[in-house]
Amino acid sequence: MDPFADTLRRLREAFSAGRTRPAEFRAAQLRGLGRFLQEHKQLLQEALAQDLHKSAFESEVSEISISQSEINLALRNLRAWMKDEKVPKNLATQLDSAFIRKEPFGLVLVIAPWNYPVNLTLVPLVGALAAGNCVVLKPSEFSRSTEKVLAEVLPRYLDQSCFAVVLGGPQETGQLLEHKFDYIFFTGSPRVGRIVMSAAAKHLTPVTLELGGKNPCYVDDNCDPQTVANRLAWFRYFNTGQTCVAPDYVLCSPDTQERLLPALQSAITRFYGEDPRSSPNLGRIISDKHFQRLRGLLGCGRVAIGGQSDESERYIAPTVLVDVEETEPVMQEEIFGPILPFVNVRSLDEAIDFINRREKPLALYAFSNNKQVVKRVLAQTSSGSFCGNDGFMHLTLDSLPFGGVGASGMGRYHGKFSFDTFSHHRACLLRCPGMEKIYSIRYPPYSPRKLSLL
Ligand code: NAD
Repeated sequence: MDPFADTLRRLREAFSAGRTRPAEFRAAQLRGLGRFLQEHKQLLQEALAQDLHKSAFESEVSEISISQSEINLALRNLRAWMKDEKVPKNLATQLDSAFIRKEPFGLVLVIAPWNYPVNLTLVPLVGALAAGNCVVLKPSEFSRSTEKVLAEVLPRYLDQSCFAVVLGGPQETGQLLEHKFDYIFFTGSPRVGRIVMSAAAKHLTPVTLELGGKNPCYVDDNCDPQTVANRLAWFRYFNTGQTCVAPDYVLCSPDTQERLLPALQSAITRFYGEDPRSSPNLGRIISDKHFQRLRGLLGCGRVAIGGQSDESERYIAPTVLVDVEETEPVMQEEIFGPILPFVNVRSLDEAIDFINRREKPLALYAFSNNKQVVKRVLAQTSSGSFCGNDGFMHLTLDSLPFGGVGASGMGRYHGKFSFDTFSHHRACLLRCPGMEKIYSIRYPPYSPRKLSLL
């Protein structure tokens, strides 16, 4: 018995009937999504607090308002994005019409993780709906309370003949992936990304893979340690470090490390108080499995700040590790928690070598008062995205694409990039029916005279 067959058939029929194509229909779906966010903001905030102990502030800035502004942008630009894009022509097509048409793919599957369970389901959904697709949304089974709101409340705001939420973990998602989709948008770990890509390959389904990895953060000697520490602490411990673009480790000289440690301690105390465990602004680790994994990483190197944990709450204090070896697990796997190891380098060249010896990261950060240093890191490395002198502020710009490169993923979205990702760019040429005399020059029999005219 296939639990998904009826749902997928219903959605395919709606797509074949052309239901999702008109701009009015797409706009109505986007407005519905906006109403869902506004009318259930509190319910979503409560769910995020239950799942991740996420503060109302972090829920608002990183989940709800970011999704709302993507909806607003898509609504403002929908008709312009949908318009055929005229392209330059050559001599032989001067009288014709040449353009790119943005067509919906058809039935799209969006698979999401648990760390930003509203943002990472709804932002791709905005792009998929704006582009006129039917959508199956598969939220993470780990962010249970949010999953419940998405499954029980969200469908009431969208046309259910074109949209469905399906639930499940690896087994159910594996079963779902046996079906043919026209596009798969996956956000999650590189391990599962490979599973999704193999399943997609069986149907030759195109994919976007938004994956994770280890994001380096280079800090130059020429910097203001307190400013760097404030920014670093904010974006490492935001969402308890469970952020795909968080800095995974710091590369700096031993001197800069010595200046940064007290500054980081000061920032952590100002942000979360003397006892971060009682702070309403610090979240918790999503599951026992991740808690145990992170507690294991606390044994790497030497704890310079924090290091406390409490299994009963899945609490891990904002932590800084020093004297870390490159071969230790904390430098081998993505941390995805409130732990920040320092790795010492003697020069900028050594830092760049260190970065380039590893897989291309999703995000890369460089701090320096010297613009040339930041520009050198940018020029001599590669990553999905780059931000100089701050944390993930580049994500606040919907004019920038978001996505990985190499092991951190493939494809991009946010703003118009989302619309383009979920659209097939169909190359179209509408020829003029006349002029046959001139056009017949290309037909056989070929002759030296015809060749000379080319
Ligand atoms: P995950 O890969 O374990 O799970 C992601 C989704 O895949 C979930 O919906 C899950 O149910 C499903 N899934 C899990 N195992 C599966 C299997 N065997 N077959 C099919 N589907 C399966 O990731 P996670 O733990 O939810 O999220 C953390 C990871 O996601 C980190 O690596 C992080 O860096 C990455 N991430 C990346 C981005 C990005 O935008 N690039 C954003 C957030 C998280």
